Amino acid sequence: MTNRFRFVSAGIFSACFSIALSAQTATITTSDTRLTLKSGPAGPMLVSLSTPGQAEWKNRRSESLIDAVEIDGKKLAVTWTLNQEASQIDAQRVAFVYESASPHLRLTWEWRVPENYGPIEHEIRIENLEPHEIWIPMQDSLAFDWSVDPNTSLEHIFIEKGANSPSAAGTHEVPVNDAYTWVGTSSTYGDLDEKEPREIIPWSLIQRKSAAQDGWYAGIEFSGRTRIAVKRNKDSLKIAAGLNPDPRPFRTRLQTGETFETPIVFLGGFRDGVDGAGNVLRRWVRAVLGNPGTWNNPHYPLVVNNSWGGGIDVNEEIAQRMMRDAAELGMEMFHQDAGWFRGVGDWYANPQKFPHGVVAMADAAHKNGLKFGLWIDWTQAGLSTETGALNARDPKVRDWMVTDLPADWQPEPFKGQTIDIGVPEAKQWVERELERVVTDYHLDMLEHDGYLVAHGCDRDDHPHAAPDPLNKCVYKSWGSYFVDSSNSTDVSYHAVRAYYDIYERLRREHPGLMFEICNDGGRMVDFGSAAHGDYFSITDTYDPVSNRRAFYDTSHVLPAAMLESYVEKWPVPRIENFRYMIRSGMMGWLTIMQDTNVWSAEQHAAAKDEIGLYKRELRPLVRDADLFHISARPDGIHWDGIEYWDQERKRGAVYVFRGSSEAENSHAFLLLGLDAAARYQIRFHDHSSSDRRVSGRELMERGLRVSLPVPNSSEIVFVGEVE
Ligand SMILES: [Zn+2]
Repeated sequence: MTNRFRFVSAGIFSACFSIALSAQTATITTSDTRLTLKSGPAGPMLVSLSTPGQAEWKNRRSESLIDAVEIDGKKLAVTWTLNQEASQIDAQRVAFVYESASPHLRLTWEWRVPENYGPIEHEIRIENLEPHEIWIPMQDSLAFDWSVDPNTSLEHIFIEKGANSPSAAGTHEVPVNDAYTWVGTSSTYGDLDEKEPREIIPWSLIQRKSAAQDGWYAGIEFSGRTRIAVKRNKDSLKIAAGLNPDPRPFRTRLQTGETFETPIVFLGGFRDGVDGAGNVLRRWVRAVLGNPGTWNNPHYPLVVNNSWGGGIDVNEEIAQRMMRDAAELGMEMFHQDAGWFRGVGDWYANPQKFPHGVVAMADAAHKNGLKFGLWIDWTQAGLSTETGALNARDPKVRDWMVTDLPADWQPEPFKGQTIDIGVPEAKQWVERELERVVTDYHLDMLEHDGYLVAHGCDRDDHPHAAPDPLNKCVYKSWGSYFVDSSNSTDVSYHAVRAYYDIYERLRREHPGLMFEICNDGGRMVDFGSAAHGDYFSITDTYDPVSNRRAFYDTSHVLPAAMLESYVEKWPVPRIENFRYMIRSGMMGWLTIMQDTNVWSAEQHAAAKDEIGLYKRELRPLVRDADLFHISARPDGIHWDGIEYWDQERKRGAVYVFRGSSEAENSHAFLLLGLDAAARYQIRFHDHSSSDRRVSGRELMERGLRVSLPVPNSSEIVFVGEVE
């Protein structure tokens, strides 16, 4: 690990005076990524990207900057001129500033190094210096065109969200042949429309099929509607990343003095394949985007019991019984899921079920030594007329809905109508409401669910662009009305920024508070959420194989500690099946969504052992170790496994799962990240084989052989280097 922290090179500045309008070239570097940047007279350019020891990627086009704006319905051309004095170059940051005299605008093209390893961040800001509002068209975060050898084999890796349910593919490795064209999109609505392609975690990696398995990757730190596009044509490889320009035309308003910020993207070079990239990126996400307050807690990621195991009819008595058993089992938080409130938008305890209120539940959890978390879908309006409720018919609130609701509209038990939090008054209501909920209910964790970013919006008096009246579709799904229109990306741009503001403020005011990002199970898994929440519900399907699949996919790009699996009730005729069920959710953040009171004494004892093992030996690896995908993606039939290896402590663990097939009683996993010349002590936790000492070479070349006689069973094998 130490070699990642070697150096940050000084930014090299060289002014070139051989042409009339001078251009600057700068280099910005981390131990993995080196970018050369140039400020042309009329526009900036990413010149090249390289990774130490590997061939350079050379770009052949300048960044495309917006070339026109609209004022009072008139289109005005924009000519950008470099402002050399305002531009800045140092080792951590390069910012080239361009100005347009008329219309008066300033554009900052910025790259910055948040850590001395990993990727480099990039953002474009456009400031309106006109005395009146302007409208600007689509500005991508990043677009380049690498010059590639037509004979070089390239591979594209992209990852689906576990939204709703992980698909049969999840992790895609696709050859980038001539004429390859691909667009991946992300929003907060993944898989809402099953006709659409699956959404991706907004990230993509291109790898050269070489011995070094080197290449580059890019990701987007934003939860709104974004897309990444890849296109190969012989010797050209074009990439674009940023807001999703579809449905077109995108436009956004800038008031006087306002600044449009493209979603931040990061761009990094790597070697040693997708796990080589992931082992740097995961650490970088923790350091750059993660919440230090959470990571400094040695109990993070927590072991949780979720009330949904008690069903929709959960009440005070059931919850208290679950809490007592959770504490007995060694769990660390009780998570009160849906089912506790009076109604959608009316976030007060249901008096029949919880006569002593939410705070009594929180206090009971605390008395049991547990933290207390609460589910809430805080952007939903309902029809409750109780004081404090968000009522969709309230004249003050009605305009916050994304469309007018018909007179017969009714909310569903957990879903109401989404409000547009991009509207300042709506955002203020949410801020006050969340402050009340967090403070009055003594929360340690707040889970948000549902669709908190409006899908589209047909209002013309909101900050976002008005919808195109001729090209607008309003439809109903799960009790809520949705709008599709050309303004959908701009609606999401405003709503997501409001959401980030709300959570940044809550974090400042409640430093110990944790946020679970749920959004209907794994639909909001992106790097903007990673910067504003503490962990993700990665899928809404909770059987062992779905949990392992969602973990396999997501763990390519996000720290394992942030990846929550809900372990639901599953048929477990044998204790081996029970352990398999628990462990399938125990590779990242473990939440048990079962009423543990119904478990047998044998199951109780097994679960208590597993939780103890997790806290004592596995959690430190989940937090800090490198992670290797040492099998194909789980299919529930064959064997699969994940390896953790802590390079500093020289120890690790291999989670092994045997699928349902009767055919294969043993399997060898080729381990990664070890030292071929070193010797290792192998310890089989369940004693499925005898412990032994073997060489790194054997583990990496012949493999770690595990034998399990029972289908749907598991083993955890510890590996430690021998002095
Ligand atoms: Zn709106």
